[in-house]
Amino acid sequence: MADMPPPRLAASEFQQRLLAWFNRHGRHDLPWQSPRSAYRVWVSEIMLQQTQVTTVIPYFERFMSHFPTLETLANAPQDEVLHLWTGLGYYARARNLHKAAQVAVAEHNGELPTESIDALVALPGIGRSTAGAIIAQSTGQRAAILDGNVKRSLTRLHALPGWPGKPAVERKLWALAEYYTPAERLADYTQAMMDFGATLCKRSKPDCPSCPFNDVCLAYAQGEPKRYPESKPKKALPTRHTIMLMLRDPQGRVWLEQRPPSGLWGGLWSLPQFEQASELNRWLEANAVNPAWDTASPSFYHTFSHFRLAITPQPVSCDRLSGVRESGVWYDINHPPALGLAAPVKALLSQLVPFSLNPTPGHA
Ligand code: SF4
Repeated sequence: MADMPPPRLAASEFQQRLLAWFNRHGRHDLPWQSPRSAYRVWVSEIMLQQTQVTTVIPYFERFMSHFPTLETLANAPQDEVLHLWTGLGYYARARNLHKAAQVAVAEHNGELPTESIDALVALPGIGRSTAGAIIAQSTGQRAAILDGNVKRSLTRLHALPGWPGKPAVERKLWALAEYYTPAERLADYTQAMMDFGATLCKRSKPDCPSCPFNDVCLAYAQGEPKRYPESKPKKALPTRHTIMLMLRDPQGRVWLEQRPPSGLWGGLWSLPQFEQASELNRWLEANAVNPAWDTASPSFYHTFSHFRLAITPQPVSCDRLSGVRESGVWYDINHPPALGLAAPVKALLSQLVPFSLNPTPGHA
């Protein structure tokens, strides 16, 4: 492999040390490990992207009890899927999971096409590492993974310079990941690679003295393991501003609208948003009967990968809505309907004091 840096150990020695460590210290009782079907591994892998195992476990269990099979997921309304995802963030993952389940039903007889990496990555939301993890763990076939944890460990072990998101660096890491992957015990090896990075070669506190590779690790030898992997070259995040209208009716219900299916918070339910107070005013004049503004709540920030959103909640009460607005619902905080909510909206609604009246939520 032209792009591969010199490996620190022969593949067989690397596997043997890693699996010996895994036997003693790895995670053997995760809910997706039994039964380890392709469907369950897939859902867990998608949930685990950018999210820690302890956070994922209750979400995974709830998801599986609602959607025990790929077919039940494919047949569910998107709102139900997003509702079960509320709080996990990165909602494109849930939308893609749902879409991919529908493609699997339509084109692969309701099964994930685990016969090849290429067939899996053709489904929405499945990248090469996720495909490798699904194949290795559910079929035992040889396939490498390179998630964030594995990138970190391999980068340190080989003192690989450069940001791992850069294609040239990533190519080298894939070459190493492929080289070290064994032909047997694939499920254990794959879990071991993930556990090793998540629990031992940790981002801010690698436990080098206990590491089975500390005699060959170049970053440890250099005395600065945390220097690796190098960070992405920084760009200052721009800030956008939005006013979120917290419109309440006399029963204390809050007006929510569904976001367009793609883009920011796609398909989730949110408070109506405005860039300017004048736009909000015009909206109220057109749609609300007797609107009364309360003092605006303090602004707060929600950070996305490419910008920060400064959110100013604006409470307004009204008698009712005057126009029929099909994209919205009156949300009753005493009896919250099962809707997928944008994270800051969920936080804002949870701060509201429940009202004693219990009206039925309905469309305006
Ligand atoms: S010695 Fe430290 S930095 Fe190197 S692989 Fe082990 S835990 Fe990671």
